[in-house]
Amino acid sequence: MKIISNPLELKEYLKDKRETDGFQVKQSVGFVPTMGALHEGHISLIREARKNNDIVVVSIFVNPTQFLKGEDLDKYPKKYDADKKICEIGGVDILFFPEAKDMYGNDEVSILAPIVRGYVLEGTSRPGHFNGVLTVVMKLLNIVEPTRAYFGKKDAQQLNLISLMVKHFFMSVEIVAVDTVRESDGLALSSRNVYLSKEERQEALKISSSLQLGAKMLTQNVVEVEEILKKMREILSPLEVSYVEILNRDFEIIKKVEIGNSIILVEARVGTTRLLDNIWL
Ligand code: AMP
Repeated sequence: MKIISNPLELKEYLKDKRETDGFQVKQSVGFVPTMGALHEGHISLIREARKNNDIVVVSIFVNPTQFLKGEDLDKYPKKYDADKKICEIGGVDILFFPEAKDMYGNDEVSILAPIVRGYVLEGTSRPGHFNGVLTVVMKLLNIVEPTRAYFGKKDAQQLNLISLMVKHFFMSVEIVAVDTVRESDGLALSSRNVYLSKEERQEALKISSSLQLGAKMLTQNVVEVEEILKKMREILSPLEVSYVEILNRDFEIIKKVEIGNSIILVEARVGTTRLLDNIWL
């Protein structure tokens, strides 16, 4: 596995590798952007990328511009050695591990999240967060120029905004959405789960339980959004819930669940940790 930290060096290296590895046809590149502290969720993205591409690139970059003042940028978990091993075992060809100074200059152009979709749900609790996400993803996609880029459904709003950016900027990358990986008791894997105490981890299960209840109500032919949300709020109580919403997959408000086109999204604070989860219906 090749490790590269300089963006331009990676761009050059990939240009050569894509075209000269003994293949007549340009090789496909699968890209998995991450912030490190890799877990089974990330591994499942890497696996998907490995399955369908000639070259697999993983980036590890804790992007400062997507953290708001007072958030956990400085204490975000860092596990470089373990991450490196996971990438090696996962058959990753190139690990991109840039420094912020090489990714950002002063007073530069950045991408703005859309006014409505970027400032609802997670964008309400983290105003401006998605500007940072879209800016870094635009940079990373331009450096790697992947055939396909892999993102988790767990960050459904992020996935939706990235897909929109790729569409509206006429970018030629396929965005692949990968299912959420969970612990056996239902907790969605997240690098931030390490912040949870034993008791908080138990409390956090209310989030996935509430989603399971929502999905179950649907199997009992309950499709009224308000009715489902009411029951879910009962399960989530007394967690500090930032939002619990049922939207269609374009993130528009609906009154009745549209099977095959809806998402239930929850963000709740457990102790001081914000946890996101969702279920695609
Ligand atoms: P992060 O390192 O948290 O920025 O996440 C990197 C990528 O992994 C994003 O596309 C996430 O949506 C995805 N991801 C994070 N947690 C999970 C999970 N539990 N299952 C599947 N994908 C995930």
